[in-house]
Amino acid sequence: MGEGSMSIYWNQTVRDITPYVPGEQPKDRKYIKLNTNENPYPPSAKVLEAIGRAVNDSLRLYPDPSNDELRDTIAAYFGLKRGNVFVGNGSDELLAFAFLAFFEPTGAPVLFAEITYSFYPVYAEFFHIPYRLIPMDDAFNVPVEEYLRENGGIIIANPNAPTGKGISLNTIEQILQHNEKHVVVLDEAYIDFGGQSAIGLIPRHSNVLVIRTLSKSYSLAGLRVGFALGSEELIEGITRVKDSINSYTVGRLAQVGARVAIEDDAYFQETRGKIMKTRARVSARLEEMGFRVIPSKANFIFISHAKYSGHFLFQSLRNEGILVRYFDKPKIDNFLRVSMGTDNEMERFLTVVATICKKGM
Ligand code: PMP
Repeated sequence: MGEGSMSIYWNQTVRDITPYVPGEQPKDRKYIKLNTNENPYPPSAKVLEAIGRAVNDSLRLYPDPSNDELRDTIAAYFGLKRGNVFVGNGSDELLAFAFLAFFEPTGAPVLFAEITYSFYPVYAEFFHIPYRLIPMDDAFNVPVEEYLRENGGIIIANPNAPTGKGISLNTIEQILQHNEKHVVVLDEAYIDFGGQSAIGLIPRHSNVLVIRTLSKSYSLAGLRVGFALGSEELIEGITRVKDSINSYTVGRLAQVGARVAIEDDAYFQETRGKIMKTRARVSARLEEMGFRVIPSKANFIFISHAKYSGHFLFQSLRNEGILVRYFDKPKIDNFLRVSMGTDNEMERFLTVVATICKKGM
């Protein structure tokens, strides 16, 4: 079936939805991949050993549907209890479950920023949840008052994607206090690269759900593990959704691998530190070349140039075997989102950018 055509077998929701489109994974040649915010470093060697051992003894059996051991590891790491932790198949699944558990199709609109993770409007449309986009200023800031109006829930990516901007704990707490009757979801996919986490607010606020992933700071995008932290009532709500859809969303190898990744804190600290250093160096070099670099708390940077259009830079980089993310959307269609690669990859990126800019004069 051609793109855009419809099947008589699809229901109305499937006909109407415009699904989320992940960053491209082309196979035609070897690219430097700076387009999906993956971690350029391999996962901890201990993770691979543990998964290897698990392959040999237990795949015949279903995994633990309640992820107890992994939840205990996560709870201990953050000073919480097992009942404050939910584990899922990547944070995308957790976000979908949160929409199903906490937001109402007939209620007030769920609020999120006009420029943020583009999966949020897809879930809202798919689950028939009304939503309202919060306008941002030219520096991609959201005035906090916008979150204090009537709502059926709030979702904030902190740091935000694709801008990389973080918001302060004070602002988050103000939003939580104003919203005691509704859930505020904080998507902390990129928090380990310099943001201020809301996890410390969980004991005082029963309406905050923090969603994390092992895809970025733990180099495990291929394993598909995310977790949610919140009050026991929120965790129970999201668990009711999971157990009404699929009891075994996280496989045995994923449960084992995730546990060991979180236990190997030294490796985690080392790799996230390297990425933050690379980000500072690359940001400074791009500024020297005349780029506007939005100050980033994530493992990517959001950049634009007054002379060379985002689309031109995107295409020129692609021709040179470097993939970055370009969004053909109002307000951000002159920007590129560039994930941090290894230092060698970023050196090559900077050299190619410099050449493109010289040629484009
Ligand atoms: N939230 C944000 C803001 C993201 O950018 C991503 C990555 N695309 C995710 C959640 C999902 O990550 P994952 O499903 O790999 O955990």
